[in-house]
Amino acid sequence: AKEFGINTALEALGLNKKNEGTSTGSKSIKSSEFITSYSPVDGAVIGEVSVTTKDAYEEVMSAAQIAYKEWRVIPAPQRGEIVRQFGEELRRLKEPLGKLVSYEMGKSYQEGLGEVQEMIDICDFAVGLSRQLHGLTMHSERPGHRMYEQYHPLGIVGIISAFNFPVAVWAWNTALAWICGDVCVWKPSEKTPLCGVACQNIIAKVLKDNNLPEGISCLINGDYKVGEFMTTDKRVPLVSATGSTRMGRIVAATVGKRLGKSLLELGGNNAIIVTPDADVKMTVIGAVFGAVGTAGQRCTSTRRLIVHESMYDTVKNAIVDAYQQLKIGNPLDENNHVGPLIDTDAVANYNKALEDVVAQGGNILVEGGVLTGAGYESGCYVKPAIAEASNNMEIVQHETFAPVLYLLKYSGEVENAIELQNDVAQGLSSAIMTNNLREAERFLSHAGSDCGIANVNIGTSGAEIGGAFGGEKDTGGGRESGSDAWKVYMRRQTNTINYTTELPLAQGIKFDL
Ligand code: NAD
Repeated sequence: AKEFGINTALEALGLNKKNEGTSTGSKSIKSSEFITSYSPVDGAVIGEVSVTTKDAYEEVMSAAQIAYKEWRVIPAPQRGEIVRQFGEELRRLKEPLGKLVSYEMGKSYQEGLGEVQEMIDICDFAVGLSRQLHGLTMHSERPGHRMYEQYHPLGIVGIISAFNFPVAVWAWNTALAWICGDVCVWKPSEKTPLCGVACQNIIAKVLKDNNLPEGISCLINGDYKVGEFMTTDKRVPLVSATGSTRMGRIVAATVGKRLGKSLLELGGNNAIIVTPDADVKMTVIGAVFGAVGTAGQRCTSTRRLIVHESMYDTVKNAIVDAYQQLKIGNPLDENNHVGPLIDTDAVANYNKALEDVVAQGGNILVEGGVLTGAGYESGCYVKPAIAEASNNMEIVQHETFAPVLYLLKYSGEVENAIELQNDVAQGLSSAIMTNNLREAERFLSHAGSDCGIANVNIGTSGAEIGGAFGGEKDTGGGRESGSDAWKVYMRRQTNTINYTTELPLAQGIKFDL
């Protein structure tokens, strides 16, 4: 780690060996129980972060409630100015934060930097949006009346995030929630707690420099039990939760029981359709990056390649060849393509998937396996694998969060491929590789892909922040980031104003006294 400047990065981000994981801004709340963060890169202990107790949580909520009253009346463009300054701090700290993301989560340094760039991009987007939180005006049926709608903040937004995007998901939510006038309480993944503390340190400085109250940005840490503090808490009107479908079902039920709102960003089972009109070179690059990038640990990772029978052997040979070129190792070394999985539990899931696919009748094309020896001491490095399979196998229907790609064959028209692509429980990202306009348009039509994201001649992973991000079915239906995703962080109010001396009723109802 030393040779990659990790210690310098930790120092620049204000991280120590022991860190308080509960914070209301610059004020930390002490606790005696700690989570240890191990790097999947080399197995070393990076540091410890304290777990939030119920009492500490209550302090956080009080600070957030007080801050909300002040924050909500600051004009939105002035809130945007705070987000602009936050974006500037992220620009200044892009390298150390990118490095920490890479070292704590295990993605490549380039992807770590990309994640911080996404945070900067959403800040820029939110700054512009802070002057555009528009409602509509409509014509009243009553004479001398005006009707319009406006958006008001919700209050405290709870954010629960997954390990694989340990910093960007928080920023997608917070940058929008803040300009909307909400305050945020974030519980990062217990697998990447230092990323959470680092982000909190960055925003705390901005809030302090601007003399803003404690509580606009709060941090809590721990496992699902700490997440439950928020999902069961009526003071949190919106819970934005990113993670597995298993988690999403529980969170949706818990928040739904108290009639709160939840924004769910859950698992995917993403496919690329390769038609007879596909560009093979582009297909291979898109599929390989999609399947092995972030070691297959993106919600948008390519899990299935659905190839037309006339192209099947060509694509199969090209992709198997490409896998032979992959270099697996330390993700901070930019010569490597594939880094480690997050932990040894993830390695066990990967091994199980490879066993299952064979047991269910699949045929391994590129062997997997766990790497050992020098450079692989953490036990988290695995070989990206490819198996020929069929869509109805139980394992293919399941999201394995690892670099395992299933090759499926289709024949006949593109509709057959679309049917296979849609025939899974999840509905996050999808793609078609084709130069045929008719195929592309059919894929994008109402009878086409049922996913939240549908791309043409691009892989399944790597979304931009300008579009709304999220998926359907077991992916949870939530939308974050660009377009009008901001609306979920606000409540809508319809206002009718009568500027006459009469009081006519709607629908022409007569009521005389
Ligand atoms: P996970 O579900 O194990 O954990 C996610 C978060 O939820 C963690 O912070 C965890 O502590 C918390 N949590 C778990 N159970 C909870 C409960 N009952 N109540 C409250 N909080 C609870 O997921 P993970 O392993 O960290 O991440 C991988 C998963 O996330 C994959 O399925 C991936 O597809 C998904 N993901 C989806 C998106 C998206 O935008 N759709 C983005 C990133 C990751």
